[in-house]
Amino acid sequence: MFIYNSLSHRKEEFVPVVPGHVSMYTCGPTVYHFAHIGNLRTYIMEDILDRYLRYSGYDVKRVMNITDVGHLTSDADTGEDKMLKGARREHKTVMEIADFYTKAFFADCEKLHIRMPDVIEPATHCIDDFIRVISKLLETGYAYAAGGNIYFDTSKLSQYYVFHGFTEEDLEVGVREGVEADSNKKNKADFVLWFTKSKFDGQELNWDSPWGRGYPGWHIECSCISMKHLGERLDIHCGGIDNAFPHHTNEIAQCEAYLGHKWCNYWMHVLHLNTNAGKMSKSSGEFLTVSLLEEKGYDPLAYRLFCLQSHYRKILVFSWENLDNAAKTYDKLIGRVAQLDLDTKEPVDNVALDEFKRAFVAALDNDLNSSLAVTAVYDVLKANVNDATKIAALNDFDQVLCLDLVASAKKRQSEKDVSAETPASDDPFIAYIQEQIQKRADAKKNKDYATADAIRNDLAEKGVVLIDSKEGTTFQIKG
Ligand code: AMP
Ligand code: ZN
Repeated sequence: MFIYNSLSHRKEEFVPVVPGHVSMYTCGPTVYHFAHIGNLRTYIMEDILDRYLRYSGYDVKRVMNITDVGHLTSDADTGEDKMLKGARREHKTVMEIADFYTKAFFADCEKLHIRMPDVIEPATHCIDDFIRVISKLLETGYAYAAGGNIYFDTSKLSQYYVFHGFTEEDLEVGVREGVEADSNKKNKADFVLWFTKSKFDGQELNWDSPWGRGYPGWHIECSCISMKHLGERLDIHCGGIDNAFPHHTNEIAQCEAYLGHKWCNYWMHVLHLNTNAGKMSKSSGEFLTVSLLEEKGYDPLAYRLFCLQSHYRKILVFSWENLDNAAKTYDKLIGRVAQLDLDTKEPVDNVALDEFKRAFVAALDNDLNSSLAVTAVYDVLKANVNDATKIAALNDFDQVLCLDLVASAKKRQSEKDVSAETPASDDPFIAYIQEQIQKRADAKKNKDYATADAIRNDLAEKGVVLIDSKEGTTFQIKG
């Protein structure tokens, strides 16, 4: 497999340190709010990598942190802890906020078919590990104490700015935002390893340390959690592009200073999901969530397909129109699969199946070209082979794509049977439902989602569940 490595700025053949095994680290969410669909673009594309490595036969161990302390509103160590801000917004404790949004994050992941990492570690569980690593950095002269905090001394490194396109000026971000620069730093690029409580009195979470009661900086958590679970040599580290600098640059600085050798071989960065107004961000407070997409009637897997249709190294522009197109494409795909004989007992043509797999593998081997992998699905549907072979290929691809095409098609076939049996509308309740369904369809056509949602909710309260599909809306009456 070839993958674009942000360290070398080119596509490289992926060769793990231990043949057959892959250690993979992905930066997890800062759990002070819901994940937005931009964050989830990054997690979907990381999931494709994770699943494709497994599909290719690797034994993958994937680790993810949960940032529940230390991530300040500016990546340049200024501002306040995002968790604290979230807690204040909701009049809750930091740990209540962390627990709620961590669960919400994994619920979103499940809806989007993002596999759970093998290890999930909240930063607050690893304070002793952070203290141990910071102590060694102090002993070896890579860190210093100033103004009560402990800082990493970037001037001690022979190389610091490893990711392309970032300069020292980027660190002035905090200053530009009107937040005071930290005068304790010896060099502008230095960053905090450990904050003492005195500097941020409002910090709810704090622990004893050799340097006083305080809390860890954001960058140290990923370094420590990765080394703790994946050892001294990491194969691949992923994150969204905004994490490349300063976060990942600082992770490398800490790990390599601590270990005394190269730490991570491949860095994969996913570009952002933008709206016409720019980058989607949690801190702006205006963002889209998976639940919102669902409320508007979109299947979360249509959003997964939307992401897969573009390459992870290109900015993806979100608009309702673009999402509508992806939802239509998804719907049509399921419709086409539903035309196959899904219960066929015919023999699979293994020669043709291997040919299909080769095209699929060639797409993903080339820097995870997911949109070509989706094209491979269309090629299967168009091919002149029996249904059994098509279904075998689709099931094989779905180990990575996870779009549930065959299962959804089966469901659609059985729903069709149900709708064909729908009682005639001389039943007043059924007539009412049918009328409401028509009203909702009209509202959706006029993009009046509020009315459409209200109708869906009203019916749900009466025990009627609506099921949208290409052929229209059917319903089930519960209980
Ligand atoms: P956070 O919860 O802010 O720590 O971010 C979680 C992940 O989402 C990180 O890997 C970020 O780099 C990534 N991310 C943040 N904003 C976006 C965006 N608009 N599009 C794609 N990924 C993003
Ligand atoms: Zn990280």
